[in-house]
Amino acid sequence: MRNDLAKILIDETTLQKRVKEMGEQISQDYKDKTPIMICILKGGVLFLTDLIKNISIPLELDFMALSSYGDTTKSSGVVKIKKDIDADITGRHVIIVEDIVDSGLTLQYMNDYFKQHKPASTKICALLDKPKAHKTEIHIDYLGFEVGNEFVVGYGLDYAQKYRNLPYIGILKEEIYT
Ligand code: 5GP
Repeated sequence: MRNDLAKILIDETTLQKRVKEMGEQISQDYKDKTPIMICILKGGVLFLTDLIKNISIPLELDFMALSSYGDTTKSSGVVKIKKDIDADITGRHVIIVEDIVDSGLTLQYMNDYFKQHKPASTKICALLDKPKAHKTEIHIDYLGFEVGNEFVVGYGLDYAQKYRNLPYIGILKEEIYT
């Protein structure tokens, strides 16, 4: 899989260090609360599992699956729910855990969707952000790293379901997807 990458963008040590800092920040901000962390499948899973190991307060987990990409590297812009959450989030402190913010349309959709259930608060925690790609105003409360507009894989992020198990973030060679 390494041969399919043009380069490693964020190595394992750098990722783990930042994820630990994010977990510690969330532990501080939510002390005396029991947040419910809603992970967006499948890309957010590796980030979520490392993140919660660094959170020292009680928390609950739930999962949601959305799609806007299919097997391509361009967002369709149309968000569909493939799996809804199981928990009742009314009055709860929700933290949405996302792998990467690109256009921001997925998060905007989730935010609007969750608002209908009247949570006590909703915050966004994203590992990566592509600020130049935003098509909507989006505030990320906990952010790992900003990246450029390249298509990245690894650490949960896929291309056509591959590369999720790489322990680092890399840029895919263009010839792999063109
Ligand atoms: P948005 O709705 O913000 O445009 O898209 C967010 C979703 O698109 C992410 O959760 C992720 O699944 C996918 N995505 C956006 N950029 C990338 C990328 O560079 N690599 C991969 N593998 N997925 C991406």
